[in-house]
Amino acid sequence: MQAIKQLYRIGHGPSSSHTIAPYRIAVAYRQQYPECERYRIVLGSSLAMTAKGHGTLSIIEEALECHDIEYVFQPEHKDNIMNICGFHGDKKENTWHAVSLGGGAVRIREYDIGDDDNVYEEENFEEIKAYLKKEDKSLLEYIYTFEPDLKEYLKQCLEVMFATVRKGLSSEGLLNKDLNYYRIAKKLYEKAENRKDYLVAYSYAACEENAAGGLMCTAPTLGSCGVLTSLMYYLRFNENKDIDTLCDMLAIGGVFGNCIKNNASIAGSVGGCQAEIGTATAMAAAAISYLEGYDLPSIEYAAEMGVEHFLGLTCDPVMGYVIIPCIERNAISIMRAYDCAYLTGQFKNIKSNAISFDSVVKAMNYTGQKLATELKETSLGGLSLEYRYAKH
Ligand code: SF4
Repeated sequence: MQAIKQLYRIGHGPSSSHTIAPYRIAVAYRQQYPECERYRIVLGSSLAMTAKGHGTLSIIEEALECHDIEYVFQPEHKDNIMNICGFHGDKKENTWHAVSLGGGAVRIREYDIGDDDNVYEEENFEEIKAYLKKEDKSLLEYIYTFEPDLKEYLKQCLEVMFATVRKGLSSEGLLNKDLNYYRIAKKLYEKAENRKDYLVAYSYAACEENAAGGLMCTAPTLGSCGVLTSLMYYLRFNENKDIDTLCDMLAIGGVFGNCIKNNASIAGSVGGCQAEIGTATAMAAAAISYLEGYDLPSIEYAAEMGVEHFLGLTCDPVMGYVIIPCIERNAISIMRAYDCAYLTGQFKNIKSNAISFDSVVKAMNYTGQKLATELKETSLGGLSLEYRYAKH
């Protein structure tokens, strides 16, 4: 499996697969071919269908520092491709064939951007448990053995998460004209009284900032960034938890996100929203269970529950914006993560889980493949369609 670090990428909203990934592809291309003055870019599948709402074109122009770009949209393409070719004078440079894989990860046929490097030999959670047993190690020891620099990196991620929530809490006004959406995080915060209220306010703050194109941390994607971001902010500033503990929580949650990324998908455009919000819920549930001092089977149980009860969740962002249903969904998810940890605690010494984490990931993968294309970040079906009907 690849580094947990890759689940926590820092970049601009609103969508890791539609802004961070295209930005990374464009920057890498520009570094290789700095003389180009104009470009031809082919966008496929969800990248072609929701480019406007997701801010894809403006982020590409920013990365290339160029407005002379001819776009070709291929919505019928089965993958989120971004093929790029640059020109200067009469000269045409090499074409790169790239794919946005979700969470900001990319694969480029002609260039090694480093996302495919494997850091862990284990491929799923059962193999990780077997390793821990054989080596007599804890899950945290395992993570930090293979990613010794992870904690330092996670500290940077926390700084970004905190700044995002702060900014979101102090911002007001119209966020999106097409949807007539006004920010509400500040108002939610002002009337917050208990843990749930604060988590919801922080989640809204993060997601509204994301929708505004703010600097964010994926966890594991930008569409689902409000879940772990709100949890971290709440624990730091309402419960005074130390930074080391928060990093350990992100690392523990990251293992489960990584198993999903490796065996299913964390991209809404590939597996539906279960892949984003289901994964974020699993990661947060595992992190909370770790904080509660639960043993490994209970942490696994909480993570499994996080996925299980979001199986089949569709991705149908209204008008292609990561706003409806995404923002509300993040708030639901962080509350659900606490419920998963709560239930796990209740079940202790009463029952064990009948479904392993790996099994639910397989079910998620199967379900994602069965989901119609209209329900995988194309804005062609579901809520997006109903919204269009209601408006006309
Ligand atoms: S519906 Fe879910 S998966 Fe789709 S863009 Fe929104 S948060 Fe991401």
